[in-house]
Amino acid sequence: MTLLQTEPTTGPTLEQAEKTVDRTDWVSSLPFFAVHAAPLAAFFVTVTWKDWVLCGVLYVVRMFCITAGYHRYFSHRSYKMTRFFQFVMAFGGTTAVQKGPLWWASHHRSHHRYTDLDDDVHSPRDGIWWSHVGWILSTKHKDTDVSNIKDFAVFPELRFLERASWIGPWLLALACLLIGGWGGLLIGFFLSTVLLWHGTFLVNSMAHIVGRRRYATPDTSRNSLIVALVTGGEGWHNNHHYLPASVRQGFRWWEIDPTWYVLRGLACLRVVRDLKNPPARLLDQARVRDGAFDIGMFRSYWEQAVKLTGDRIADLTARPIPSGPDFPTRATAVGTSDEASTEPAAENPDGDDATRLAGLIARTLESADQFAKSTRRTRTMDKSILEAGSTSDPKRG
Ligand SMILES: [Zn+2]
Ligand SMILES: [Zn+2]
Repeated sequence: MTLLQTEPTTGPTLEQAEKTVDRTDWVSSLPFFAVHAAPLAAFFVTVTWKDWVLCGVLYVVRMFCITAGYHRYFSHRSYKMTRFFQFVMAFGGTTAVQKGPLWWASHHRSHHRYTDLDDDVHSPRDGIWWSHVGWILSTKHKDTDVSNIKDFAVFPELRFLERASWIGPWLLALACLLIGGWGGLLIGFFLSTVLLWHGTFLVNSMAHIVGRRRYATPDTSRNSLIVALVTGGEGWHNNHHYLPASVRQGFRWWEIDPTWYVLRGLACLRVVRDLKNPPARLLDQARVRDGAFDIGMFRSYWEQAVKLTGDRIADLTARPIPSGPDFPTRATAVGTSDEASTEPAAENPDGDDATRLAGLIARTLESADQFAKSTRRTRTMDKSILEAGSTSDPKRG
């Protein structure tokens, strides 16, 4: 247990204890901030155009190791390769300074399992900062859940890379220093590492906030051209959450997906094989524009509304109700019944409101889930049945 995981001494609530763990651990995060500061030293050394080329090349190559390797291979097994190339890809991934392949893929699999739910490691529902870097800077997710990545944890060479994930970055930094001197190190290595980090992090933050939703997935994932350009094709995140096992994430010709183009090239060279493409029959199903109920966004908006309402109720019940005709009562302010409005705060404890609210939330989400299932099912039914209006009963879901 680390310092930050220790609970406060004066009787913390569960929520307070959780926040303690979720907070940035400034001490263990020092290297993260030092790497951000390092490129600033380039103002005091000679930087040539070669250093900028090195920066660009290292960004592109290492991004590929993350998107094709850590993500599409180790997390999703969307294609196959030999044990030798698997090791090469894993080693390339470690040079991106994003820990080892097992840690990365284990957490990413967890993200897909619990997307935008309480156990999601980096959902923007816990704040943009948290989804972008907060979850990495806290100590909450520093360990690897090996049970989540048993299929790759059986390889001793990957377990070694996991323990020694520092070797790749140090060797690369040294190579940059030898190739380009201080300029090569500060711009070629450090600046490209910082850009690479935030490029990758955008998929966890922005790809769940900005962009369009084609498929009614049970989460908030979006398709974003900008994120796709920055990450070599990972911006088609709504497509990806719809069909995570697909090696191709840009489903249309205009959805730029350089990672997939390179993997196709590598397949021609027999470096990789068995690329899993999205099944054609699924591409036109569950689309929001065809009327599939967007349970992911419904859940997100509903939770936001519930939080605001809950805060308002807690706020109002915590204060004494002012008397006199000029002040609205607590109940009318939050839109409850007249009967409730006549009760003073002390006689209607917070617990009642909270229990009622929790019940309503659970029941509404339950019906929304059923409704989402029913709309998805109608997509697979005969169109003539749809036109005849026989699917209007939501209970059939
Ligand atoms: Zn996601
Ligand atoms: Zn994924």
